[in-house]
Amino acid sequence: MSSPLAFIPPFSPAHCSAIFYDCPIPFIITTLEEGRFVEVNAAFERTFGWKREELREKTSFDVGIWTNREERSVLLNRIALEGNMYSAAVIVACRDDAPRHYRMFAMRLDCGAVSYLFTAFNDIQGQLDAEKDAQSNRNRFLHLYNTMLDGYARVDTNRHFLECNRSFREMLGYTEEELLQLTASDITPAEWHALDIRIELEQLAHRGYSDIYEKEHIRKDGSIFPVELQLYRSIDTNGNFDGFWGVVRDISERKRQQASIDYLAYHDPLTQLPNRILLLEKLEHTLKRAKRLANEHAPEMPPGEADHQASQVALLFVDLDHFKNVNDTMGHPVGDTLLQIAASKMSHLLRESDFLARAGGDEFIILLEAPITTASAAGVANRVLALFAAPIMVQDQEIYMSASIGISLFPKDGDDSESMIKHADLAMFKAKDEGRSTFRFYGAELGAGILERMTLEHALRGALQRNELILYYQPQISLASGQIVGVEALVRWRHPERGIIPPGHFIPIAEDIGIISDIGGWVLQEACRQMAEWRDESLPILSMSVNISAQQFERSNLVAIVQEQLEKHRLPPHMLELEVTESILMHKTEHTLSALGGLKKLGVRLAIDDFGTGYSSLGYLKSLPVQRLKIDYSFVRDIGHDSNDEAITRAVIALSTNLSLETVAEGVEREEQEKFLRDAGCQIAQGFRYAHPLPATEIRAMFDEK
Ligand code: C2E
Ligand code: MG
Ligand code: MG
Repeated sequence: MSSPLAFIPPFSPAHCSAIFYDCPIPFIITTLEEGRFVEVNAAFERTFGWKREELREKTSFDVGIWTNREERSVLLNRIALEGNMYSAAVIVACRDDAPRHYRMFAMRLDCGAVSYLFTAFNDIQGQLDAEKDAQSNRNRFLHLYNTMLDGYARVDTNRHFLECNRSFREMLGYTEEELLQLTASDITPAEWHALDIRIELEQLAHRGYSDIYEKEHIRKDGSIFPVELQLYRSIDTNGNFDGFWGVVRDISERKRQQASIDYLAYHDPLTQLPNRILLLEKLEHTLKRAKRLANEHAPEMPPGEADHQASQVALLFVDLDHFKNVNDTMGHPVGDTLLQIAASKMSHLLRESDFLARAGGDEFIILLEAPITTASAAGVANRVLALFAAPIMVQDQEIYMSASIGISLFPKDGDDSESMIKHADLAMFKAKDEGRSTFRFYGAELGAGILERMTLEHALRGALQRNELILYYQPQISLASGQIVGVEALVRWRHPERGIIPPGHFIPIAEDIGIISDIGGWVLQEACRQMAEWRDESLPILSMSVNISAQQFERSNLVAIVQEQLEKHRLPPHMLELEVTESILMHKTEHTLSALGGLKKLGVRLAIDDFGTGYSSLGYLKSLPVQRLKIDYSFVRDIGHDSNDEAITRAVIALSTNLSLETVAEGVEREEQEKFLRDAGCQIAQGFRYAHPLPATEIRAMFDEK
């Protein structure tokens, strides 16, 4: 051991041993061979829980510094050989605490003939724990890195790939070696490069990470797919910027789902055409563009037609004629197929830039973008009409269809979506009014008929709620006895300004706008109520006839409604007769057949109204649960003047008799008609000859008179 530099008084060896004792690092001095404690310092006492006094006569084996004598011999040999300080990681037991890891520094001290071992202990437990944590974190990260569904990749400052996980490679179809040859730009379509640069400058440079954003990547096979990614600036251990890393997600599936949701929201499922929502968006857009065009052209062109044409847009409102009849008589599946065929014919006819949408029901809208001349809009309308010239085949049936078209032009007829559609709609009404299967431009004054129809349509929607409907009753007379045997309920609309409106003026509208079932339900209920009242007053009226429209038969739960009314008014079913037209009966859908069966089961009577105007198959008539035929007024009218009509009337009565049905003649006005009918075998007559349709009070009065 070297001698001290100098003990400059008052510094003395005693100070040295005080420093040894107070030094915060645990020290011990033991004899070299046996390990007997010679001295320990205060830090040792504190750290290992032994009092200095307790260690007297003890060896380092006794307190667990060494558990293994051999290990200590190895240490001594090493020190003997290498002659310098020896260091090793050891586990040392504390007196009362769990053993901890220390790095031990041991040094041989030779004092004359005796050798000692000086040992210092550096606590490395914390460091070991941190390493262990770091290791397990790293293991966890590696696990995540290799199994995560998202792609992970890191690039250097030149965007060369440095590392990437399996998902990232699989997403792109590259092997790891291949990918490490590429840069991020190589897998990004050129149109996205500007966005990447912007993200780098605006987000990464400022705050170190980007928002999650979407772009596209290119696979090895060249295909392009959408991704969502988030990038981070990468910092090396010295805190220097060394590139980027990012997490990338393939969002192809999500995009596909989104696209199909969008498609459903914007398309009509039956025809696959854009629906009303998409139409309105498109129309807004088209009008905006047209307005811009109009402004651009305005300065150079004199105002007038030429000016309009540069920015002119045409909107064609196409409505199929009598489509409701197809639905009512041939069934909804046929109607649906017809709409599909019509839609596909129209879309094939139009150019790519034209836009076709289904606006609802049997209404379609065609949008012809600017610039379109008035003549070419008319040309398109004509070609659409021509599409329907030939019959359309649906389920082996030839269906003759036609359409009516109304056209509105921007800017002449409106400068917003709503007025463009409304005016084309009005023009379409005009086309219908003027014979159908034709087109009309909006602008020319509307015919009185259209305005009338539109006003009525509006008022009719609230008529039922406002109690404006009433029933009149027309007696039915037995030709044998001259007695009233029944009445037919005929609805009227008591319009607050126009007075009584006959059903011929509003029933077809109610059918068109789909409120006939509500009206029909009310009629049924009111007729049953009236019949019950008369029955309670003992009026000898045997039956009440109620007209039923095709839609009521097809779309409502007629059987349940009828049953409810019969029960409510305690009417025997044979007192109620439902008048249906031939077309309803010929329409052999499942719904119709089950309604017919249900009514038969209830026991109500059925009459075929306006017989002779449809195309009933006689064979089929036989199988129907019908009790009466009503010969249409058009045949009865000319009895006495037209021998053809007389022959038909006679034949119908004969047919009816053969089928064991009762015959009722409608519209009997004159004595000669009555005589003819009685002679031909008709049992019942109805017409002005006996009574007009009358309010209930007047029917009652007729009996009072007798
Ligand atoms: P419909 O069922 O054939 O009714 C007979 C129509 O002939 C009634 O017309 C009646 O006023 C008229 N009429 C009766 N006798 C004579 C006559 O001697 N000469 C002439 N020229 N006509 C006569 P109205 O009341 O105007 O009813 C017209 C049609 O409206 C009815 O024809 C029926 O199809 C329909 N309708 C009436 N009420 C209802 C109803 O509650 N529901 C449904 N769905 N349709 C109804
Ligand atoms: Mg009738
Ligand atoms: Mg009739």
